[in-house]
Amino acid sequence: MPIHEKSLIRPENLHTHENLEIDGVDVSGDWSTFIQTRVISDYDEDMEDEVAALPGGEYIHRCWQCGSCTNSCTVNALDAEFNPRYWIYLTRLGMRDELLRDKDLIWQCVSCNKCTYACPRDVNPEGVMKALAHWLELKGHTPTSPSTHFDTEFSEQVFATGKIEEGRVIRGFFARTKQPLMQDWLVEMAKRVIRHLPVTMMMRMGLAGLLRPRTSGWGKARDAINEYVAEQNAKHAEALKLGADGGHGAANE
Ligand code: SF4
Ligand code: SF4
Repeated sequence: MPIHEKSLIRPENLHTHENLEIDGVDVSGDWSTFIQTRVISDYDEDMEDEVAALPGGEYIHRCWQCGSCTNSCTVNALDAEFNPRYWIYLTRLGMRDELLRDKDLIWQCVSCNKCTYACPRDVNPEGVMKALAHWLELKGHTPTSPSTHFDTEFSEQVFATGKIEEGRVIRGFFARTKQPLMQDWLVEMAKRVIRHLPVTMMMRMGLAGLLRPRTSGWGKARDAINEYVAEQNAKHAEALKLGADGGHGAANE
């Protein structure tokens, strides 16, 4: 099977009568195997439009299923189940239940963009993977992923001050993902950084951690950004027909 192929027929969709006789003919067992039928209500007709309404998903309709994205994909090389072409196919057809079977794989995209460079139709498959992961979260099919937690923490700091302070981002990320702050790898990294950083730089970093500096005159930019983000969130909530909490609920902790 070529790397981008994927069978839609799964063992649970096959049904066999152990004992069946039709017009006097015994068709028990394999002779009576049939594939479960699909009916129109099995399809989610809004799914493609919903994913297209999210950032990165805008050009999903251009996909012609060539498979170049999957063939070039970094994660697919490690796990053949990671298949952007297949998920775009499912989304465009509205095959939600099939897509949900892979909901714990989709967020594993590492945003390397190899697929985007390989795509002959400018679909921006990396963006579609982001939009799909976002869609799964907003619809409550998956909990908030670590990458969304990181994006949220990072963005909120930029919106608030116009600056980033790495230590604060890491602390905020760990708090959101309920991880302990003292982790062996982090302690080791901090030790190595300290060993090689000039004293003045360390003092400046320490002060930045304490004082939380702001970009001067940031107030107007902050208000404009917050207004834009609120508009976008409302637009996405409307496109995905989400409730008042904007979809942040069901599967989230
Ligand atoms: S951006 Fe994601 S989907 Fe695209 S090649 Fe990289 S890992 Fe694969
Ligand atoms: S490379 Fe582009 S056109 Fe080809 S399957 Fe992937 S997204 Fe679709």
